[in-house]
Amino acid sequence: MSSKLGRRTFLGAGAAATAVALGGLNRQPAQAQFPWFRNRGRVVNLYSSRHYDTDEQLYERFREATGIRVNVVEAEADQLIERIKSEGQNSPADLLMTVDAGRLWRAEQEGIFQPVTSSVLTGAIPDNLRHPDGLWFGLTQRARVLMYRKDRVNPADLSTYEALVDAKWRGRILTRSSTNIYSQSLVGSIMAAHGAADTETWARGLVANFARDPQGGDTDQIKAVAAGLGDVAISNTYYLARLLKSDSAEDRAVAEAMGVFFPNQNDRGTHVNISGAGLVRTAPNADAAIAFLEYLVSPEAQRIFAEGNNEYPVVEGVAVDSVVASFGEFKADSLNAAVFGRNNPEALRITDRAGWK
Ligand code: FE
Repeated sequence: MSSKLGRRTFLGAGAAATAVALGGLNRQPAQAQFPWFRNRGRVVNLYSSRHYDTDEQLYERFREATGIRVNVVEAEADQLIERIKSEGQNSPADLLMTVDAGRLWRAEQEGIFQPVTSSVLTGAIPDNLRHPDGLWFGLTQRARVLMYRKDRVNPADLSTYEALVDAKWRGRILTRSSTNIYSQSLVGSIMAAHGAADTETWARGLVANFARDPQGGDTDQIKAVAAGLGDVAISNTYYLARLLKSDSAEDRAVAEAMGVFFPNQNDRGTHVNISGAGLVRTAPNADAAIAFLEYLVSPEAQRIFAEGNNEYPVVEGVAVDSVVASFGEFKADSLNAAVFGRNNPEALRITDRAGWK
């Protein structure tokens, strides 16, 4: 994989702009099945806030199958949104890919996306994991679960996100900051279930049970629980899978001390977020970009996603990674990702007022 990293560009790169000139000369209807020679010189410019080396495999396999090269500009989603806005009509961006529905919603609000009509995409992706009008599409799912120290917590004491405010959890809960979009989307999903007022009460109760002021990412919460700083971490499952597969014996020991609990199995299901992408309004290579989106829901690409970053496929019937599968099957909240995306600004105000740092 490392040999391909050089092709990846970061903010400020000129490669994407060069590529647009080529793509613009050679626009033709795209089908992923086109012979390689017909697509020679064609490109897709992907602005991505995903930061997983395994995604390189997706770009490479797509190029092998179609001859279309994927140029990647990687940065935080908000930076990419700003960049697309400032580039305006001349933006080389074809696709914007994020790791959270909240950011897709922000991009949508900024008028960055245009609708895509594709029976391949609508056929492969369940309704609740894509925008109702095709402005963006979920490509992988991530479940936000409770992880507990097996020697200190009886999983029978866990039930729902809501129940984490119970007094028995005082000083025992760890989660990342409310400035993180994963936290905001979780709060947005609770708003959808209970309304803003009750969600604020819940957020206050959760903050009251924090083991410490939020700091670090999901992995830090898991490690803190393993170290005895608290008993329950709120985390996406793939962070634990990564630790279980780590080369470091210390990481594996941390992960093995932890149990996974899928909350809300007796009601709406566990909160799932998406990593997804939409077609940029000014995309110079729209056809190739749609072909790439369609490739990303193929069984092969879904398997690469599932194995590469230990995420859950969006496409029915694609096997999950074996370590991820060991966490067990679960019922996912079927709330449309657009809803907690839309709830994002209010979720932020709620967490602010609740003192969730
Ligand atoms: Fe993440």
